[in-house]
Amino acid sequence: MSYSDNVLGALKARYSYQPEFLQAAEEILKTLQPALDKNPAYEKYHILERMTEPERTVSFRVEWVDDKGQIQVNHGYRVQFNSAIGPYKGGIRFHPTVNEGILKFLGLEQILKNSLTGTPIGGAKGGADFDPKGKSEIEVMRFCQAFMTQLYRYIGATVDVPAGDIGVGGREIGFMYGAYKRLTTKYEGILTGKGLTFGGSLARTEATGYGVVYFTDAMLKEKGDSLKGKKCAVSGAGNVAIYCCEKLYQMGATPVTVSDSRGTIYDPNGIKVDVLKQVKEVERASLTRYAELVSTAQYTPVEKYPSGLHQVWTYKVDAAFPCATQNELNEEDAKTLLANGCNTVAEGANMPSTLGAINQFLKAGINYGPAKAANAGGVATSQLEMEQNAGMTSWTFETVDGKLHDIMTNLYNNAAATAREFGVAGNLVLGANIAGFRKVADAMIAQGVI
Ligand code: NDP
Repeated sequence: MSYSDNVLGALKARYSYQPEFLQAAEEILKTLQPALDKNPAYEKYHILERMTEPERTVSFRVEWVDDKGQIQVNHGYRVQFNSAIGPYKGGIRFHPTVNEGILKFLGLEQILKNSLTGTPIGGAKGGADFDPKGKSEIEVMRFCQAFMTQLYRYIGATVDVPAGDIGVGGREIGFMYGAYKRLTTKYEGILTGKGLTFGGSLARTEATGYGVVYFTDAMLKEKGDSLKGKKCAVSGAGNVAIYCCEKLYQMGATPVTVSDSRGTIYDPNGIKVDVLKQVKEVERASLTRYAELVSTAQYTPVEKYPSGLHQVWTYKVDAAFPCATQNELNEEDAKTLLANGCNTVAEGANMPSTLGAINQFLKAGINYGPAKAANAGGVATSQLEMEQNAGMTSWTFETVDGKLHDIMTNLYNNAAATAREFGVAGNLVLGANIAGFRKVADAMIAQGVI
């Protein structure tokens, strides 16, 4: 049995109750074997056993009082997974599905993703099973303050710098930042995604969505192709999806779908980004509101489609950008996309494609940009925010966007070159995993058993 199979077997026995973590571990470990064969030091130093176990996980009670005066209790976590190449870095997610296993899958992915950006940041993830939907602004503020009352002990500008994720946008980051400042009296860059008036970076809001499109552009360019004229399916209607749509238009492509947990919008004329921003960023409403405002939009609620969320993958498109959540694109969806002529998939969300779907894409040999490479623009720009905070300065939008573009192009080149090095040109899953892994593994070996 190979080293990677051995470690995977042990993880499966120990963490059978964390299916998402095991799914991410399987996807990663299976592709690393050629690098493990090439350098026996990785097995000698038990790198896989060490890298798949978080350095530390903090879990805590978050108690707060709702608008009716009732006491509410939620569960909060911070998984500080790996600090071999820099301070822990990774988002905070507020969603009812959050548990330790989901945060471990996200944290494991984050280690390799952060390494791939070429910047010195380690991997982490955190969150709580709190649902911001339907809560008043004051309730969200009270929850954020309660969450930070626990978390502040474990973070710091050179220790661990969280950011946003699902359910955590600029508003929540602002509330958490204020709470940290009140607790510590320190004005320092302990979160990224901050508002522009208190240390935030221009282009951070846009970064993940723009970055996915920059990555796709680099991937297509190598084949002499481009996004110009392409019809695109985008899922999700949050931060990543909105700015993915915006950049697609700038590249001459047309996004024709978006979706949220309640339904899908299809508009062959193209999604209206200004309306989408108004509905999601300002009104915080569901996509039914978008359908009210745009007469050409066709809205299908999840109940009307047998497999609910997956409707977004049924339209005839050239490219697909899953930007909502994990496991939102399964093997059947992959087959449907391929049958409809889609030959490019780039992942804005984390682990949106199931293993079955990934295998379909690899078998078909289409342009496939896996999440940890394609969506690394968000965390890369967070690192640029840290750089600006450390220098007590701020850069122009063009400067940050230009750096983001360069990072995504370099990242694509690195993953593609690594795939070629291992004789599987075009397999960016293997290329990204091995390229990200080697840097962290070598740093761990150099730093000894700690
Ligand atoms: P948002 O909360 O802004 O938006 C998430 C979108 O996905 C919403 O439209 C939401 O619909 C939908 N969605 C979320 N969970 C589910 C679910 N279980 N079922 C169906 N739909 C769902 O999050 P982001 O845009 O920030 O994040 C989207 C994805 O991108 C996540 O996988 C995240 O980890 C990843 N990511 C984000 C980065 C960032 O910088 N923000 C960086 C890198 C990756 P509804 O509102 O109805 O719930």
